[in-house]
Amino acid sequence: MKLLEGKTALITGASRGIGRAIAEKFASEGANLILTDLFYDDNAKALVDQLSATGVKVKMYASDASKFDQAQNVVDEAAKEFGQIHILVNNAGITRDTLLMRMTEDQWDLVINVNLKSVFNLTKAVQSLMLKQRYGSIINMSSVVGVSGNAGQANYSASKAGIVGFTKSVARELGSRNIRCNAIAPGFILTEMTDKLPEDVRKEWAEKIPLKRGGTPDEVAKVALFLASDLSSYVSGQVIQVCGAMLT
Ligand code: NAD
Repeated sequence: MKLLEGKTALITGASRGIGRAIAEKFASEGANLILTDLFYDDNAKALVDQLSATGVKVKMYASDASKFDQAQNVVDEAAKEFGQIHILVNNAGITRDTLLMRMTEDQWDLVINVNLKSVFNLTKAVQSLMLKQRYGSIINMSSVVGVSGNAGQANYSASKAGIVGFTKSVARELGSRNIRCNAIAPGFILTEMTDKLPEDVRKEWAEKIPLKRGGTPDEVAKVALFLASDLSSYVSGQVIQVCGAMLT
């Protein structure tokens, strides 16, 4: 029996990077998938075909996770199509890095809305389904910089720290209904998000990491699988760092 057989998972920001790796991992363990991203483009279509070929049911929606109404609409439509949603992975996230001195109000608002408000939007939208089911695992993608802070990322670090507070509160609030809520705090993971950084900055980061390399999206997906499945049935309200001991 596969770890997620009979389960349905909703993953935001799923067309590339860590979200895509989580979708692939969950499909390989038998989960049906509701995927979202900003656009349903050729790349997203190819992903849906690739995952459907493994025998699970997959549907992808173009939806902006930072918009309250769009989050509610996706969950309403998906609930009609799939019936239940057992797992929510709030993965969508962006950076707009710059020193506070230069940070504009728009850069602040955008990062807080996409990274933090989206977590509120989707969690609120799935809450009543999970309450009825008396079952749920919610996984929020934070970051080590939400714990440590980082120069040039005041907006991003604040959004990721906010996710930690939200995660712990939801774990306390919904635990009695068998709904678990945890966060993953990745360190330096090799995706398009970190590809944007200059080569020397990427090398410098890797040097500082005790495991001497950036992580892969699949290494984050394996932790997401643990948190999504009943392997973690007594784990809730936790922040699991996936960072090669970058932050201890
Ligand atoms: P990525 O940029 O490769 O992928 C992010 C995905 O989210 C993209 O497909 C993008 O289109 C989508 N997205 C962006 N805004 C969205 C919105 N408003 N609604 C729906 N989808 C949206 O990033 P990644 O590296 O895979 O990061 C995934 C998550 O992991 C993010 O929350 C990020 O902050 C977090 N994280 C990444 C790293 C890293 O080193 N890569 C480290 C710590 C945390």
